Amino acid sequence: MNSIRVIPPCFCGLQIRASEGKIVLAKVLVNAKEFHLAASFTDTNCASPSAIASATSKLLQKRLIRKIWRTELSTYRSERRRVYIAYTGGTIGMTNTGEGYAPAPGFLETRLREMPELRDAAMPEIVLHEYTPLLDSSNMTPREWFTIARDIFENYDAFDGFVVLHGTDTMAYTASALPFLLQGLTKPVILTGSQIPLVELRNDARENLITALLIAANQPLPEVCLYFGDKLLRGCRTVKVNALGFGAFESPNYPPLGTVGIDIQIDWSVVRAAPLRALEMPRAELNATVAALRLFPGISAELLRNVLQTPLQGLVLETYGAGNAPNRDRALLNTLAEATQRGAVIVDCTQCLRGAVKLNAYATGAALLEAGVISGADMTPIAALTKLHYLIGSGYASEQVRALMQQNLSGEVTL
Ligand code: ASP
Repeated sequence: MNSIRVIPPCFCGLQIRASEGKIVLAKVLVNAKEFHLAASFTDTNCASPSAIASATSKLLQKRLIRKIWRTELSTYRSERRRVYIAYTGGTIGMTNTGEGYAPAPGFLETRLREMPELRDAAMPEIVLHEYTPLLDSSNMTPREWFTIARDIFENYDAFDGFVVLHGTDTMAYTASALPFLLQGLTKPVILTGSQIPLVELRNDARENLITALLIAANQPLPEVCLYFGDKLLRGCRTVKVNALGFGAFESPNYPPLGTVGIDIQIDWSVVRAAPLRALEMPRAELNATVAALRLFPGISAELLRNVLQTPLQGLVLETYGAGNAPNRDRALLNTLAEATQRGAVIVDCTQCLRGAVKLNAYATGAALLEAGVISGADMTPIAALTKLHYLIGSGYASEQVRALMQQNLSGEVTL
């Protein structure tokens, strides 16, 4: 929307900037002690961004910096931040077509141009990229997850942060998939949308959009997050919990990364440490055949066998309680065992919103373990599905997929 300005690079998760001869302050944790990184550079008169970058690099290599604490923003207010908006569709930009709400090309951009708030000095410069076609998120597929990741990768160096405007229906899936695709991310990627379109008089779109832009511009979060209705959540922990209310999302097994009231408050103690490597180009498009199946009382071995037929490579089995399934149905357990023996990866996630799978807690869980099913611990079934997609689609062999599914790759699981 606005002209493009070149900005200094982000180095290893610390945003290094010099403005009017002053150096940006970055508070970091060094050996558990809060430490004003740039302040110490100032003391030693390291005035240039490249000198800071190289000194920071040495600290990072020596692993002295344990965790980036927060960046003091006030010091670089003089330079406008830049945020890239990937507009994929969803209610936020929809218009009433007579056949119900649907996205229309160019419509959101026109509305944004009319918003005086976006020209406020406190707002970042924004560049809007409207996708073609704009989608109701019910139409999203893994191909779109990959397109969004690739889009962010290609624009990574030129922006301070990214906002993905997305329909709410499958936003948790995209928010879960992106952290796997964006390995090495050190800048904020904030997904948001709304329950009521921006065009309506009463809406949640305006607040969600403006706050998401401010967070993406100003908070050095090295994570894919979802902002909605006053909560900032880790993307790969989210689920949509309300079809109608403005507080539509929660991350039941992980605390919010931030809450928004009078102030935008980030809880830095639960934010991931920035990775020490550069952002990797998202790998080839994800070609994987995976599925999710929710157990229900009376489920038959035959139904399960149909689901598990080749070419299925991975299944998220949504089980009861601590990860339990009927162990009196031998045929059902045999069906699972046959599938795992031929290399299908079956991950056990609980249907409960909170808590974790413990496959040894009950005989009904231990039977699954014996059939070769692996524990999804406290992962959401959504995160498990996108992780399976990512790992199988990246070409890992079945044994590697099994191993990596049981590791924490992007903050999706507590181990
Ligand atoms: N059906 C819409 C979508 O997911 C719902 C929304 O955006 O809230 O695209």
